[in-house]
Amino acid sequence: MAILQEIQQESMQIAKDYVNEVYEAVKKRNPNESEFHQAVKEIFDSLVPVFAKHPEYMKYSVLERISEPERVIMFRVPWVDDQGKVQVNRGYRVQFNSNIGPYKGGLRFHPSVNASIIKFLGFEQIFKNSLTGQPIGGGKGGSDFDPKGKSDMEVMRFTQSFMTELCKHIGPDVDVPAGDIGVGAREIGYLFGQYKRIRGAYEAGVLTGKGLGYGGSLTRTEATGYGTVYFVEEMLKDKGLSFNGSTVVVSGSGNVSIYAIEKAHQLGAKVVACSDSNGYIYDPNGINLDTVKQLKEVERKRIQEYVLAHPEATYVEGCEGIWSINCDIALPCATQNEINEDAAKLLVANGVKAIGEGANMPSTLEAIDVFLGNNVLFGPAKATNAGGVAVSALEMAQNSSRMPWSFEEVDAKLHDIMKNIYTNSITAAEEYGQPGNLVVGANIAGFIKVADAMMAQGIV
Ligand code: NDP
Repeated sequence: MAILQEIQQESMQIAKDYVNEVYEAVKKRNPNESEFHQAVKEIFDSLVPVFAKHPEYMKYSVLERISEPERVIMFRVPWVDDQGKVQVNRGYRVQFNSNIGPYKGGLRFHPSVNASIIKFLGFEQIFKNSLTGQPIGGGKGGSDFDPKGKSDMEVMRFTQSFMTELCKHIGPDVDVPAGDIGVGAREIGYLFGQYKRIRGAYEAGVLTGKGLGYGGSLTRTEATGYGTVYFVEEMLKDKGLSFNGSTVVVSGSGNVSIYAIEKAHQLGAKVVACSDSNGYIYDPNGINLDTVKQLKEVERKRIQEYVLAHPEATYVEGCEGIWSINCDIALPCATQNEINEDAAKLLVANGVKAIGEGANMPSTLEAIDVFLGNNVLFGPAKATNAGGVAVSALEMAQNSSRMPWSFEEVDAKLHDIMKNIYTNSITAAEEYGQPGNLVVGANIAGFIKVADAMMAQGIV
């Protein structure tokens, strides 16, 4: 028995050393890319027991290969604004891993976009896409273009210029982009129009998140928000809890936030706060979602204007304070690193029971430690928000078969996928000695499928 334990400890140490060594190499090769380092560290640390059990992955350098993108494309995007002035932005597409399917992942248009952000998102996408059970690889792209305050014509000219370059690198069986921050139905429409024009063919499956009239899937708009709530519902159910009667705080007021609020309301919760990048609103009576949809989806206005229609609500400038509001469930659905250690401590002190990450990497590593250390149920982004890309894969399937499915059909499939992701993640956590830890479970469950495909396909 003692000998067995010694061997196990030794394998764990070898695996730990290997993981640390590769992590240091990643940092050295990608200097000044803090978000990418953060995402890599979170995943690498949880894979130590996998390497201890499967040393063959070390032998074939799976970690070294999976953390190096297959291809990084960076390009100039020149366009002319409404004043006739030439503007120049930078475009990116990171094609990270194609072992289980064509590259798949969204496009982000936001001034903060840089190589580090796109690489962190692309890296996470590999594992998330694997978790969905769908045949899709990992990729991500975007630009530092800021759609805020731009006219429709400016957005169209920028988007057409962006696609004129991007179209050389994508295709329904190659790489299939979708939306993300700053890229919604309008942008996807312009992107698709330009792709179709250049290609001279109707390749509906080249982009997902399309309008319903030209190859889009019902439920895609709702999928990430609904999926986040479906996943958290599974976490709560396991502990005899539920959304019904709970108080919920949701950050952001974009695509993910709006449909997370909608599903939480449908399940009997009261969502009392949401935000945008300027500040947050608190409505003790529960957020009126029709008002938020009108402001954000139709008028593209600031969330501050909510209080004009609902004087009982309050608006606070600055979005960090949203985490000081008492709640049972917090759903960060805005952006990366929006919950730091202090915010996490505040949520815990105020009695939060569950966190569901609707955004990508919204909690810092320190914040995650606070949640796990205080037995708060924690759904990590790559599992919790995988519903969006899962339905994107269902959109691709409908495009290939040229047969659209009903809302109920897609929603039922989404619900099943989220339940499966939860079961697979919780089972992997148990199997690798960290019961209940969904961060570890999701990373391991997502990794093994891709790693096995990499092993099967040789050193490529
Ligand atoms: P949207 O652009 O629709 O909405 C983003 C929301 O977050 C807006 O309310 C925005 O406010 C706010 N926000 C953006 N940047 C910041 C910032 N730096 N600080 C504070 N608030 C900010 O994007 P999505 O809803 O599509 O995406 C939200 C998150 O979910 C992202 O992390 C994205 O990667 C992730 N995600 C999205 C998926 C999808 O299907 N859409 C799929 C999986 C993950 P403002 O309007 O002021 O900019």
